[in-house]
Amino acid sequence: MADKVTTYQCPACTGPLHFDGKTGILKCDYCGSTYTVEEVEKLFAAKNEAAAAAFTDGAGKDTGPEAGGSQPAAGSASGKNDQSAAAGSSAADSQSAAASSDPAASGWGNDAAKMRAYNCTSCGAELICDETTAATRCPYCGNNTIIPGQFAGTQKPDYVIPFQYEKKDAVNALKSYYKGKTLLPGAFRNENHLDEIKGVYVPFWLYSGHVDAAGRYDAKQDEVFRQGEYEVTRSKHYEVDREGTISFTRVPVDASTKMPDDLMDSIEPFDYRAITDFSLAYMPGYLANKYDVSSKECGKRAYERSRTTAEESLRGTVTGYTSVSTRDHREKVVNEKTEYAVFPVWLLSTSWQGQNFLFAMNGQTGRMTGNLPVSKAKQALWFFVVFVLCLLLFGSFLLSGENTTTVSYLIALVFALIPAAIVNAVLVGQMKPVAQEKRAAAYVTDGGIHLKVQNDRYIRTTESRVKLQNRQAPGGGKNPGGPPHGPGRPGRH
Ligand SMILES: [Zn+2]
Ligand SMILES: [Zn+2]
Repeated sequence: MADKVTTYQCPACTGPLHFDGKTGILKCDYCGSTYTVEEVEKLFAAKNEAAAAAFTDGAGKDTGPEAGGSQPAAGSASGKNDQSAAAGSSAADSQSAAASSDPAASGWGNDAAKMRAYNCTSCGAELICDETTAATRCPYCGNNTIIPGQFAGTQKPDYVIPFQYEKKDAVNALKSYYKGKTLLPGAFRNENHLDEIKGVYVPFWLYSGHVDAAGRYDAKQDEVFRQGEYEVTRSKHYEVDREGTISFTRVPVDASTKMPDDLMDSIEPFDYRAITDFSLAYMPGYLANKYDVSSKECGKRAYERSRTTAEESLRGTVTGYTSVSTRDHREKVVNEKTEYAVFPVWLLSTSWQGQNFLFAMNGQTGRMTGNLPVSKAKQALWFFVVFVLCLLLFGSFLLSGENTTTVSYLIALVFALIPAAIVNAVLVGQMKPVAQEKRAAAYVTDGGIHLKVQNDRYIRTTESRVKLQNRQAPGGGKNPGGPPHGPGRPGRH
């Protein structure tokens, strides 16, 4: 009989309550009353407990009433198991059919089976949401509703980072995000329109642990000197061993299939100084999802990121050499602790010329990211302009000598193409910043890697010599006697 949903309404006027990120307190949309997180926790504790209990009662036995939703939870106390075993199967069928008719019409299609329906405790309307939804808003009465059961028992997150930026901040941030993006199509700024903006508490797994790493490297120390008409390179070869341990704290991996991994990686890092014990009181006014990817599955990404950073850090301790190459390395990643947290993210979906663009803003730090369309015309123009300018610059320099050859033309061409390609890559990179994070350097603790083995063994010395005149740059010798031949390289035997 009990509700699975808690509606966060103002105790003074029953208006919708929402968590205000700027002030860190809960505000009523109607009368302006404010409540601290602690006050709200107390006010809604009993309701949340009852809702969580109703939720766990309903879940697990049969998905019929959950998926159907319209069927009241009546008669759930006894005989339910028998029902779901026998007559329940046909009931469940009709239930799921009834449930899918609605969502399918709104384009959810096969996902209909993953939808859940609840009743708003304020207006009684049916709330249909995805099976991982833990906080939403009633579309009919505007009240902020929480499904405490999604965050109860073993599903309860350990931590939350509350929102600090509001919806209007996200909208403004998106506008300024377009600034300085040279290759953005001119019309995009004006014609691209915001379809949806939502503040979501995204589930994350946080992995803490350490990596034991060992590596063997071939290192070389070169000394270059002149001996008569020879340039001698004397190389001292070393065999270097390193072993060490590096610790990581709370490497985050988003645990929702709905969130693109690369987008979530690109708004890192969250500032863990503001992390606080989880409470439902931070949820009203936002959407919240519980995890639907296991900590084991997500752990693979944290593992790989930590491993890569350990490998690079260990190699980074081999210093003082001219060159270092890795002969062998191995890492053992030890996960000591896995925590569950929800972090604040603003998601902004926009469309332009039939294409959809998704942007994300870190709801705590304000960091905004998202891929933008590239104007082919602007891209071509920039490439051309840089190319021509460099061609003129290098060309006038290279071709000023008295004997210009095809080779000098080619050199000028190449020297102009390189900067044009670099400028192009930088400008395009600016438009496509969304990428999966491969490293965990931001989460290294205890001041980096701690070495247990640090062994540099001298092996041998080798020498190579090159006759100096062969290595002289054309015209670079500035021999006072010789006529300046300029780029006379082809003439040499
Ligand atoms: Zn109020
Ligand atoms: Zn309602």
